[in-house]
Amino acid sequence: MNWTTHKVINQPPELVDYNLYDTDAALREGVLREGGSSDADSLFRYGALLGQRENFRLAAEANRHGPELQAYDMHGHRVDRILFHPAWTHFMALTYGQGMHSGGWVEPRPGAQVARAAAYLMHGQIEAGSLCPTTMTAAAIPVLRKEAWFDRIAPLLFSRRYDGRDIPLENKTSMSIGMGMTEKQGGSDLRSNTTTAQPIGRAGRGEIYRLTGHKWFFSAPTSDAHLVLARTGDAFSCFYVPRWRSEGDRNGILLQRLKDKLGNKSNASAEVEFQDAEGVLVGEPGRGIATLVEMASYTRLDCVLGSAALLRQAFVQAMHHARHRQAFGSTLVQQPLMQSVLADLALESIAATTLALRLAGALDAAGNPEEDTWRRVMAPAAKFWVCKRAITAVAECMEVWGGNGYIEEGPLARIYRETPVNSIWEGSGNIMCLDVLRALGRSPEQAQAMLGHLAQACAGDAMLTARLHALRAHLAEPAALEPRARRLARDLVLLVQAALLRQHAPQVVADTFIRSRFSEGGQVFGACDFTPAEIAALLAWAWPD
Ligand SMILES: Cc1cc2nc3c(=O)[nH]c(=O)nc-3n(C[C@H](O)[C@H](O)[C@H](O)COP(=O)(O)OP(=O)(O)OC[C@H]3O[C@@H](n4cnc5c(N)ncnc54)[C@H](O)[C@@H]3O)c2cc1C
Repeated sequence: MNWTTHKVINQPPELVDYNLYDTDAALREGVLREGGSSDADSLFRYGALLGQRENFRLAAEANRHGPELQAYDMHGHRVDRILFHPAWTHFMALTYGQGMHSGGWVEPRPGAQVARAAAYLMHGQIEAGSLCPTTMTAAAIPVLRKEAWFDRIAPLLFSRRYDGRDIPLENKTSMSIGMGMTEKQGGSDLRSNTTTAQPIGRAGRGEIYRLTGHKWFFSAPTSDAHLVLARTGDAFSCFYVPRWRSEGDRNGILLQRLKDKLGNKSNASAEVEFQDAEGVLVGEPGRGIATLVEMASYTRLDCVLGSAALLRQAFVQAMHHARHRQAFGSTLVQQPLMQSVLADLALESIAATTLALRLAGALDAAGNPEEDTWRRVMAPAAKFWVCKRAITAVAECMEVWGGNGYIEEGPLARIYRETPVNSIWEGSGNIMCLDVLRALGRSPEQAQAMLGHLAQACAGDAMLTARLHALRAHLAEPAALEPRARRLARDLVLLVQAALLRQHAPQVVADTFIRSRFSEGGQVFGACDFTPAEIAALLAWAWPD
C-alpha cells in the first residue's frame, strides 16, 4: 500500500542478526579470564544463534502466548495439564542443547561453570522465562547426586535432548526438576511451612513418604519432579516428589491455578496441593531446610546472571537506538547529556557481567576454602545489589527509546516487566543481606582474610580504601549490623566490582566506575562527570559501532 500522508523516517532499524558473544567484550574477556577458554568457540556459535532475527520473534511469541492450565478434560477427569506455545519448547530445547540445565556438573572441569554462566547470560537476553526451569534443574543436581539412587536419573538429567512431554520418566529422553518451598503463610520464613510428610513404611533417607498440604508458588509445575520441603514431626525434610509415580499413574499433585504474573510470562508458575503425593526423602532427615538452602545457593547465582543478562540486553538496545535516532539535528548518542546516561549504564552492565562471571569462576573452584567463603558472602550480596540495580537501569534504558520503549511491540517493555522477579524469588533483598551477615559471621577468620585481600586490591585508591575502612568499622559494631545490612551488602559489592575492574578492565572503565560509584552521582543514572574522551572510550568498548 502507498503511504499517502507521510514518509516514515527516523525510526531505527531493529537490532537483530548480531552475535551476542562477539560484541560483548566484558563477557568474552571474562570467560577467558575465569577459565572458560575451551568453550569459547561453542559460546561464539551460541551467541550467533541466539542473535538471529527468528529468535527475537519467537521470544516475543513465547511471552505473548503464555502457558494455559487444563485442569480437567472435557469429561470431567482431572488431567492437570499445561499447554505451552511451541516457541517455549524451542527455547527450552536451546537451553538443554547448550547443556545449561546440567553443564557445570556433568564433567566437573575447570571453566565448566563459567561456560555455562556465559551461555546463560546470553540466553537470558533473548528469552528469560526459560531460564527458571533450567536453573532449578541445574541446582538440584549437586543436591541429588549425594543420594544412593542418583545414578538411576543421572543419564536423564545430563541428556541434552530436551523432552517436555508430560509422561512417565521411563519413556523420556531427559528430565527437569523444580523446587517447592513457599507456602501461603510464608516464603522467607520456611519454618512456617505446614505441609506434612508421613512415611509409608520405614522412615529415613531414601524412604517413601506421603505428602499432604500445599505450595503457593510452584514454578515449572510440569517438571518431572520437584524438591519439596515438608514437616516430619517437629523438623523439616526435603523430598523428591515425582510428577508420575513408578506405577505409571500421576502423583497426587493437583495444579490449582497458574499465577497471573507481572512478567516471566512464558514460564508457568502454579499453586498446587499435595494429596497423598509420594516423595522420597532426600538428604539428612530433619535437615530439609539446609538441603534446600544448598540448592538455593546455586539458584541465587543464576539470579545474578539473569539480571546481568537483562541489563546487558536493555543497554545494547538503548545504545543501538541512540546511534540511529536523531533529535535536534544529530543522533541521540551525540548529545552530551545522553552520552552521560549511556556511559553510566554501560558501567553498570560491565560491572554486573564481570562480577557474575567471577562468581561462576568461584563455583568452578568449589572446595577451595578461600573461594568458598568468598562465594558464600558475595553470592547473596550480588543477588541483592545486581538484581536491584538492574531494575532501575532497565527503566532508564527504556526511556532512551522514548515512547517506543513503553510499547509492547518493542523489546524493552518485556525486559522491564521481567527484571524485578530476580530480586524477589530465591530469597528477596533483605533476606540476601541478612544472609551476607550470616556468611561473614560463620567463619570470621576467613571473612577477615577475604577483606584483607580486598584491601590489597583497593590499595592506592583513596576513595576505595576509605569506603573499605568504613565497612570494617560497621562490622565491628555487631548491635548495628542488621539495620545496616543493605548498606554493607551494597558497599561490599561496589568494592569488589571496583577491584575486579581495576584488575581486569580497561583503565577508563575502572576510573569512571570508581569516580561515579564512590564520589559523585549515584542517585540517578547519568548524574556523573565524565570527559568526552572517557565517554567515547567507554561506549566503544561496551558496544562496538
Ligand atoms: C514468579 C515467581 C515464581 C516463584 N517460584 C517459586 C518456586 O518455584 N518455588 C518456591 O518455593 N517459591 C517460588 N516463588 C516464591 C518466592 O521464592 C517467594 O515469594 C520469596 O521467597 C518471598 O517469600 P514471600 O512471598 O512469602 O514473602 P515474605 O517471606 O512474606 O517476605 C516479604 C518481604 O519481607 C522481607 N522480609 C522477610 N523477613 C525479613 C526479615 N527478617 N527482615 C527484613 N525483611 C524481611 C522479604 O525480604 C520480603 O521483601 C516464586 C515467586 C515468584 C514471584
